[in-house]
Amino acid sequence: MTKGDWEAVIGLEVHAQVSSKTKLFSSSSTEFGAEHNTQVSLVDAAMPGTLPILNYYSIEQTIRTGLALSAEINKSSYFDRKNYFYPDLPQGYQITQFFEPIVKNGRIFINNNEKEIRIARIHLEQDAGKSVHEESKTYVDLNRAGVALMEIVSEPDLRSPEEAAEFMKKLRQILRYIGSCDGDMEKGSLRCDVNVSVRPKGSSTFGTRCEIKNLNSICYIVQAIDYEIQRQIEILESGEKISQDTLLFDVSLGKTKVVRNKEDASDYRYFPEPDLLPVEISQDEIDSIRSSLPELPDQKKLRYIRELSINKYDADVITSDKAIANYFEELIKKHDSKLAVTWLTVELFGHLNKAGIDIVSSPVKANALSELLDFIVDGTISAKLGKQVLDIMFETGKPASLIIKEQDLKQITDKGQISEIIDKIINDNQDKVQEYKNGKTKLYGFFVGEVMKFTKGKASPDVVNLVLSEKLSS
Ligand code: ADP
Ligand code: MG
Repeated sequence: MTKGDWEAVIGLEVHAQVSSKTKLFSSSSTEFGAEHNTQVSLVDAAMPGTLPILNYYSIEQTIRTGLALSAEINKSSYFDRKNYFYPDLPQGYQITQFFEPIVKNGRIFINNNEKEIRIARIHLEQDAGKSVHEESKTYVDLNRAGVALMEIVSEPDLRSPEEAAEFMKKLRQILRYIGSCDGDMEKGSLRCDVNVSVRPKGSSTFGTRCEIKNLNSICYIVQAIDYEIQRQIEILESGEKISQDTLLFDVSLGKTKVVRNKEDASDYRYFPEPDLLPVEISQDEIDSIRSSLPELPDQKKLRYIRELSINKYDADVITSDKAIANYFEELIKKHDSKLAVTWLTVELFGHLNKAGIDIVSSPVKANALSELLDFIVDGTISAKLGKQVLDIMFETGKPASLIIKEQDLKQITDKGQISEIIDKIINDNQDKVQEYKNGKTKLYGFFVGEVMKFTKGKASPDVVNLVLSEKLSS
């Protein structure tokens, strides 16, 4: 068989850090980048006699996430102990939800909303600490110990690395829209374990899967799955069997390597966490959380297409990120949506791309761009000069009004003044006027150009056209 005869089956287990200021069971800070072991309470360090106190905010955010993924909210869930030994886990167990997760049966749509990927569950659990290796020594940093994670588990509905990437992007987009997780993969707020198997095309049973642990970029997810599919196909084609292994992806080699086999899979001896009460959620709470949800990206996109007549491509771009959509919505408070789309996605994005920054760090905020558009719409400056003003705004951060005043860019709309200028130009170019009148109408552009040169681009194109056509035809 060749590669074409195989189909990949992929399921993801995503760890999304809840955007909570405090940990899941203690009031320690979750701030990123602090000195080692400065954000560790007695609970996080698992001192005997301490008890966990559940952070309700994390429950709420997990429910919001579930609702945003059209899932069922489990009105009565509870926490379990997952027992294992590791130096960065001082409790000797992780508090997680095994038997009754708080969220079940959701979905995410990918491929232009044509393909549904089922979400099996979302449960809440605490993160472990971190081992820090330095030369021959290993240190333990407990700053992360106890940080709230939502584990979002997909059904094995994905069929290619590209679909897995789309799934992650869509999930990250939704998490950012609702604010339950900042989605920052570089800081580790969003990570994922990837389960991969292959099967002969057309087969209805699944092959044996391997799990690649802890990938923290979409690019690595794609590379790791690509490599793993190829590796498994080669094993199967040589007549051997896949062993159900846990793997790590070596970023520098671009290869997966086995870290442990299913045979030594741990028995976690799960049992209900005796130090915490079950989590009971009422319908009222669910309803009130639902009503706090913002418009989601897919809804927003549809609304832009239907109500604002924005094309699908632009609607996609604008809703891809909540900050871009917010910026756009500020512009259309006062301006036509077509004008706003152009100035946002062509002009401003041009500057942002060149500077390599995103919209949040744009030196030109939405209200400032909106003011620039005011001046274009009311004819104070032409659209062409508007672009020059935007260049200066982007460079200096000055408002459009100040730049127009300082540079004396106000458009000349006075018909008398423009008339005088045109008279002079006609006078100086009698030969061209004659040629024009003899039928060389292309010369019209020459006269417009001369007016613009003379006025440094400030003459109103409308008024110039009006006066010029009058004079040339007389
Ligand atoms: P575990 O808890 O042992 O990791 P689960 O059954 O909860 O196992 O599955 C974990 C992940 O593996 C899920 O995302 C699921 O979609 C995926 N998965 C399950 N079976 C397969 C398979 N045969 N091939 C690829 N992915 C799979
Ligand atoms: Mg797993």
